[in-house]
Formats: sequence, C-alpha cells, structure tokens
Amino acid sequence: MTNKEKLVSILSLIHLILLMACLLMMFLCIFLNVDTWVVFVFIFIAVLIIGFIIINILKMTTYNYECEECHNLRSINFIETIFTPKGKETRVLKCPHCQKQTIMKRIPK
Ligand SMILES: [Zn+2]
Repeated sequence: MTNKEKLVSILSLIHLILLMACLLMMFLCIFLNVDTWVVFVFIFIAVLIIGFIIINILKMTTYNYECEECHNLRSINFIETIFTPKGKETRVLKCPHCQKQTIMKRIPK
C-alpha cells in the first residue's frame, strides 16, 4: 500500500465518522427538543458533499486503471470517478487503446 492509498482510506474513514457524528448530533437534538438540529442537517450535507469531492479528487490522482483486454493503463477524470459503475477495486471503463468497455482493475500510480 502506498502512502497516498493510506491517505485515501484514512480520509474515507474520517469522512464516515464525521457523517455518523453529524447524524448522532441531529438525532440527539431532535430527541432533546433543541431547535439547532436544522444546523446539523446543513453541516451533514456540507460534510457529505465536500468530503465526497475531496475523496474523489484524491482517488482520481491516486489510481490508474488497467484494461482487461490489452493491459493498457489509463487514468480517469473527475466526472468518471463519480459516474462510472465500480466494484471494490474495479471500475467499468472504456479503454482508449482498444476501444472496448471492460472491467478495469485499479493500480496505484
Ligand atoms: Zn484495452
């Protein structure tokens, strides 16, 4: 595991913990009848979106993807990190070399 891969997994974990904490605070406020729960809804949405963008940019710069057919390596852009279907360590992408849509395995840069 490279340092950058470690950073991606640590940040993903922190993102998850922050989201859980926000949800917890939100429910706590609702439970205690405090009006500030609305604030936590906004914080939750902000953390969700900002974290998602940061983690996706990091993933984009950390990994290359290898074509199943011709083993050509390609990088992905930000739009592709969001919209392409993915598995745990794979992603369905079109290969710029052989033009085939294959399940590509991610390789750290
Ligand atoms: Zn290919």
